[in-house]
Amino acid sequence: MKKIALLGSTGSIGTQTLEIVRNNPAEVQVTALAAGSNIALMEEQIREFRPAIAAMWSETAAEELKIKVADLPVRVVSGMAGLLEIANQPEAGMLVTAIVGMIGIRPTIAAIKAGKDIALANKETLVTAGHLIMPLVREYGVSLLPVDSEHSAIFQSLQGEDQKQVERILLTASGGPFRGKTRVELTEIPVAAALAHPNWSMGRKITIDSATLVNKGLEVIEAKWLFDVRPEQIEVVVHPQSIIHSMVGYVDGGIMAQLGTPDMKLPIQYALFYPDRKPLKGKRVDFFALSTLTFEPPNTEVFRGLPLAYQAMAAGGSQPTVYNAANEKAVSLFLEGKIKFLQIYELIEGAMAYHKVIDNPSVEEILETEEATYQYIRRTIS
Ligand code: NAD
Ligand code: MG
Repeated sequence: MKKIALLGSTGSIGTQTLEIVRNNPAEVQVTALAAGSNIALMEEQIREFRPAIAAMWSETAAEELKIKVADLPVRVVSGMAGLLEIANQPEAGMLVTAIVGMIGIRPTIAAIKAGKDIALANKETLVTAGHLIMPLVREYGVSLLPVDSEHSAIFQSLQGEDQKQVERILLTASGGPFRGKTRVELTEIPVAAALAHPNWSMGRKITIDSATLVNKGLEVIEAKWLFDVRPEQIEVVVHPQSIIHSMVGYVDGGIMAQLGTPDMKLPIQYALFYPDRKPLKGKRVDFFALSTLTFEPPNTEVFRGLPLAYQAMAAGGSQPTVYNAANEKAVSLFLEGKIKFLQIYELIEGAMAYHKVIDNPSVEEILETEEATYQYIRRTIS
């Protein structure tokens, strides 16, 4: 029986992870759950999955939850201390990180140090702290399994191969809802249009990131850390049908790809049960119904989220943190209707230009950089 702790259980990846647990009761069990503020859903999840620990981010939410589940033997905790308690919980062999943002750094590091494998959806953690996390993964001999669909596809395309014979990584991108649009057409984008992704149903933040291509930028940096390749070996290929989830090109010109219908349950399940494949119901790829798969280069003039990521990666150190933090803040301002769509890029670019890069930043320096970036954006907006 596989035992997992799950951070971000009420979100898009979190609920799909629990669906997999529900479908494989003899194989996997949940020992701990953590969420931000959705008390009602957390209560339901506790009643169904019976974890030993449940965490809510705010103390008031935790207090409210405690009363609701007083009849059950579950310890309710809160805040960073709660997330760290879950990361260290001895029962679980794997931590699934499905929270959004850099809040995942500390629990991920704690879980690695406690000898747990990590199923990582929380890309922001790797983007900002990859230089700390990857050496720890090697030092503690744990596995870091990608949940992000592209990285899972790359990981699947690497099975049985020698990583030294990789020539390039072909990271596919749907292009998002605004593919083909000009800058002028993007000046007055309503929030609802940016939230309407053509192929994937995801959380709000990552859906906006897909529209700006910042998500792809974060994924390029994520791929660099996960697969130990140089930035110039990572090519982004726009593939609007989202059937090829990514590819690996080898030194002999051969290319391995992983294909499937867009469903996050496959990569989540692959990470949970690796190296096993488990049955998964759902739509299958029908090549005759598809008839064409198309490819095009990303428009980096319009979708500056991508070139800015390469720039952040080249600068290294704390600059990917600025890229990520500025984007987080800008996306929430956009969702609140306080800035326009294209201002997301302006804020990221401005914050990166303003920042003095710290080489090899510690966790504290990463979090200080995050805070300084938030302050920069607040000043710029007011
Ligand atoms: P989401 O917004 O749907 O869910 C986020 C979850 O994290 C929720 O359960 C929320 O309550 C919890 N959370 C937020 N702040 C928290 C805090 N401070 N403490 C504890 N819990 C907190 O997000 P999502 O779309 O599921 O994305 C999760 C992560 O997975 C992100 O890093 C995203 O980039 C990545 N990812 C998502 C998808 C997808 O299909 N949704 C695909 C690839 C990667
Ligand atoms: Mg992805």
